[in-house]
Amino acid sequence: MSLSFKKTTLLFIIFCGFLFFLINVIELNSNYKNIKTPNATKSLQNTLITKDISNKPPIETDDSNENSFKNVKKPKSKETIIIVKKDQTFSSILDNFNFDNKKKFAIINAINAIYDLRELKVNQKIIFLIDKNENVEKIIIELNFNTNLEADLRSDIKIVKKELETFSEINSQEYVISNSLYADGINNNIPNQILIKLIQLFSFDLDFQRDIQKDTKVSISYEKIFVKNKSDYALGDIEYAKIIIKNNTLEYFKFLTDDGFIDYFNRQGKNVKKSILKTPIDGARISSSFGMRKHPISGFNKMHKGVDFAAPIGTPVYAGGNGVIEMVGVNGGYGKYIRIRHNNEYKTAYAHLNSYRKGISKGVRVNQGEVIGYVGNTGRSTGPHLHYEIIYQNKKVNPLKLKLPSGKILKGDELARFEKNYKMILANHLNNLFE
Ligand SMILES: [Zn+2]
Repeated sequence: MSLSFKKTTLLFIIFCGFLFFLINVIELNSNYKNIKTPNATKSLQNTLITKDISNKPPIETDDSNENSFKNVKKPKSKETIIIVKKDQTFSSILDNFNFDNKKKFAIINAINAIYDLRELKVNQKIIFLIDKNENVEKIIIELNFNTNLEADLRSDIKIVKKELETFSEINSQEYVISNSLYADGINNNIPNQILIKLIQLFSFDLDFQRDIQKDTKVSISYEKIFVKNKSDYALGDIEYAKIIIKNNTLEYFKFLTDDGFIDYFNRQGKNVKKSILKTPIDGARISSSFGMRKHPISGFNKMHKGVDFAAPIGTPVYAGGNGVIEMVGVNGGYGKYIRIRHNNEYKTAYAHLNSYRKGISKGVRVNQGEVIGYVGNTGRSTGPHLHYEIIYQNKKVNPLKLKLPSGKILKGDELARFEKNYKMILANHLNNLFE
């Protein structure tokens, strides 16, 4: 009897102990969740928004990259940061470390195979990770805001380019114009680069001199892009812009179209842009229009199948519309020449260029208004100018007389996707403004 009583008590005590343990575990777990949740959701929201509306390639989250930062903090290896000075070569930077000549040239050759070291710029950052035996185990070159080149020297030389993880933040602001869209934007701490984009965005619909009056209200959301462990940031795209003039509201939302272009649409899914620009250059005057004329070089009467815009050498030339580069290169009397294919019916061509913008090559996608090259005087040309052609169904047509179709109007599934997207952008914008 007494034995069984003892047993029961013992069992009861064990059971209570287990219960106590269980409660603790549950409580710990819920505490852990409480700590984690807000951050996790916030960054998830941010990523979701960015992912949905940007056409940047998905960001590679690389654990080894994180490790390299952790290595920095380990006491065993230390880091030396070199900021490239004027006229300093990579070879002379390596002389600060204990490499023999053979190793030095092996490193330079290995890096040069992936990145041309002559492109090192003043103020570019190079990090050397040094182990406890004073040997450099890793060299990290910051190529741009979110790309590093890493040379691992521990056994063989291994070179990798690493995209750093980025995250973005949407900034939203509202202001009233008392002077101008630009000046008041600057006074409201909106970055210059974003204001220029804003002006471009509205330039299809607005005459800035006439339409914008005192007390016009502007609303804008734009993206700031950050990289982990860095304090500086890059500016991304405008997400949302609204301007209210008298009784007219212009409102545009950023959207990544099915064919891969970042573009802006109003709530009805209508594109802000006209399909092709008639003047793909700023502030130039027409020096020769489309039609018969005496050719200034040959002297013969000839049909001039384009429009000439006189402008100083180096003036930026814009892509007339969204499209794909079909040709870049010297093209006979045209000199340096670019042709863009916009769709099945329209192409545009740009001749006598001085140079092409870096990165412009056959097959590259360009957006309307993006700089593709610079005015020059190459080929059969009598002075610096841009010769611009619009080609419709393989015939050169007069750009100034052409009735251009308006920009894209979203339909069906694409429209449905846009609607979901714009509601998210708007909610985020309002939330930022009034939170
Ligand atoms: Zn011409």
